[in-house]
Amino acid sequence: MADKSIMTINGKTRLCGVIGNPVEHTMSPIIHNTLSEYYDKNLIYVPFYVKDGDIEAAIKGAHALNILGLNVTVPYKMDVIPYLVDIDDLAKRIGAVNTLVRCENGYKGYNTDVLGLGRAFEISGIKVNGNTVVVLGAGGASRAVVFLCESLGAAKIYLFNRTIDKAEALANEVNEYSGRDLVIPMLMSDIEKIEENDIIAIQATSVGLHPNNEDVVTTCDAFYSKISKAYDLIYKPTETKFMRLVKEHGGEAYNGLSMLNYQGVIAYELWNEMEISEEAAKITFDKLMGAVD
Ligand code: NAP
Repeated sequence: MADKSIMTINGKTRLCGVIGNPVEHTMSPIIHNTLSEYYDKNLIYVPFYVKDGDIEAAIKGAHALNILGLNVTVPYKMDVIPYLVDIDDLAKRIGAVNTLVRCENGYKGYNTDVLGLGRAFEISGIKVNGNTVVVLGAGGASRAVVFLCESLGAAKIYLFNRTIDKAEALANEVNEYSGRDLVIPMLMSDIEKIEENDIIAIQATSVGLHPNNEDVVTTCDAFYSKISKAYDLIYKPTETKFMRLVKEHGGEAYNGLSMLNYQGVIAYELWNEMEISEEAAKITFDKLMGAVD
């Protein structure tokens, strides 16, 4: 890591940032500014609050200002799509974009949330290929999880949601895309009906998110006893009640901080056309961990 505590801003400094509303809570500057410091890159990363109705102006303005790249957070991950000049295939399939990479006439959109989750699975030893996966939730994050598990070769995906219509719609979409009956939509209240053992469980609902730390989608012992590995997309708190129940029943459980970290690392790689080392990714991860209170 470069030995400097104060970043030098000069005429050659490049700018990246995150657009969203709200955006004050973002931890992304930690990831990107740490990477710039580590690799001694003259690039800074800042949050940009974009108010409702201003997304087109924000993207065009960013390009006019020679901004190198942007992350996109809630609520604009779908809204930005009409204003891009190109979109990566996976992001198109998911229908959501969280990273914009500058090209000549505008920005190309990527979904590094899903790519980051893929790397988080790798690093946690979660092997989806050929296995049964249970996904809890059928919202925006779940879409990315289900498409990722499809692309990683899951044998079967049970998709549980409180509102069955949403699970059915997502299952139909993925099954049509994959050309097989891969995703089985189910009501959350039917979770005890899973028969397979040794399953991978992905918690993609917002239940258990701070400050509702003691909430959990299910307390069904029969379900938890079948889990070998679990990933909760929530990272605040760093151990959710879902994770605790998995561990109490003998399974391994990981929180969503590695997904957050890798979505940033991969965005930085795309903007700078470089590969980030695992050593650097570990440094940003530890800084994020220290920032989650
Ligand atoms: P979302 O689109 O609002 O979806 C929320 C999901 O939670 C839906 O499936 C919803 O079910 C379910 N849910 C909410 N309250 C519930 C309750 N009381 N009981 C049962 N189910 C309930 O949210 P999202 O964008 O998918 O985000 C989901 C989670 O992922 C959030 O905690 C978010 O922080 C996390 N996330 C993490 C990362 C990361 O980098 N680690 C990235 C993205 C998201 P219904 O359909 O029935 O309403």
